[in-house]
Amino acid sequence: MSGPSATDAYVALGSNLGDSRATFAGAIEALGALPGSRLTGRSRIYRTPPWGRTDQPDFLNAVVRLHTSLAPHVLLDALMAIERRFGRMRDGERWGPRTLDLDLLHMDSTALDDSRLTLPHPRVAERAFVLLPLADLAPDLVLPGQGRVGDLLQLVDAGGCEPID
Ligand code: ADP
Ligand code: MG
Repeated sequence: MSGPSATDAYVALGSNLGDSRATFAGAIEALGALPGSRLTGRSRIYRTPPWGRTDQPDFLNAVVRLHTSLAPHVLLDALMAIERRFGRMRDGERWGPRTLDLDLLHMDSTALDDSRLTLPHPRVAERAFVLLPLADLAPDLVLPGQGRVGDLLQLVDAGGCEPID
């Protein structure tokens, strides 16, 4: 259960290999089952064009909100363990196809920049595939250093991104 020091954490999911919808369902269940954590919101699922390297299948993307008492690095370790459980291989190319990518976008009242973790995630503002689902949950959230989610979404090209549920 989440205690008095718990905060809201926003986690982005991405997948473009395997049965992505089934992977999301399993990963979201695993996120809600983390110690000291409960799931308090989930976005729609979007189909989005590949980013970075375009010679790969479309992605599915979503964002969930957790109320959690886990410390940021403990939560990051847990996200990477869930990625591994769903078959993520980290020896592939950066931005290449993946069964599951989990990124920690933001934790309330937390700013961090070390070798393992930057919070807020530094590339939210440039990624329609993150801003669209994040805006489903928290359009008024202000990411320190980047801006208000709903405003940031107006500034990116969300062409080709479509909700599928
Ligand atoms: P990407 O998500 O950019 O495609 P990876 O999932 O391979 O790349 O992540 C690369 C590294 O980014 C991870 O090993 C992790 O330590 C680091 N990282 C830094 N900040 C964050 C964050 N906010 N969320 C997730 N990973 C992060
Ligand atoms: Mg990642």
